[in-house]
Amino acid sequence: MLKIVTYPHPALRYASRPVLRIDQTLRDQIRSMFDLMYEARGIGLAANQVALPQQFFILNLTADPKQRDQEQVFINPEILKRHSSTLEEEGCLSFPGLYAPVPRAKRIRVRYYDLEGQERTLDAEELLSRAIQHEADHLIGRLFIDYLGPEALRAAAPRIREIESTFRAAQARGEFPADAELTRALDDYGREPGRVAASGPVGSP
Ligand code: ZN
Repeated sequence: MLKIVTYPHPALRYASRPVLRIDQTLRDQIRSMFDLMYEARGIGLAANQVALPQQFFILNLTADPKQRDQEQVFINPEILKRHSSTLEEEGCLSFPGLYAPVPRAKRIRVRYYDLEGQERTLDAEELLSRAIQHEADHLIGRLFIDYLGPEALRAAAPRIREIESTFRAAQARGEFPADAELTRALDDYGREPGRVAASGPVGSP
């Protein structure tokens, strides 16, 4: 069962791998992620935030589960262009209760695959642009707190510490394994069992 993980779960600093197959597993994961996102009243959620080391994220800028036609899925996204910059308050479901001003490009062009496997290019601005940049960052293990200037970081620090101790306490209660084990699970995700122990590349002695 998927669950939104909070900072500093190692998945949030993990560089995800490209999605290789759009299959029923992926479609089920995406459906669960939309449910989790609506429950948490978010507008976006990246695979890293549910501890899946895969390059995709979901958005629904309305945050309204009744407006399913506003749901968007971005698979293997790549931001091709960034124009101008803007500073706005941002939040993140992996940092509950934390809002801070984050500089982002005002307009972007992004290329990605949709859930039908269709390659698409999108020009985005305003909230959509900001949300795509925030979520695409998750896929390379980058977080919105990384952009905070000294003053914003000082203001955010007490809440970041609280979020961190909440996660460490849950870990101490055994709700999560230790970091090393969580990282191993991320490394192993999607690998066929036994494949790592195989005798190396074809043609090697
Ligand atoms: Zn986030």
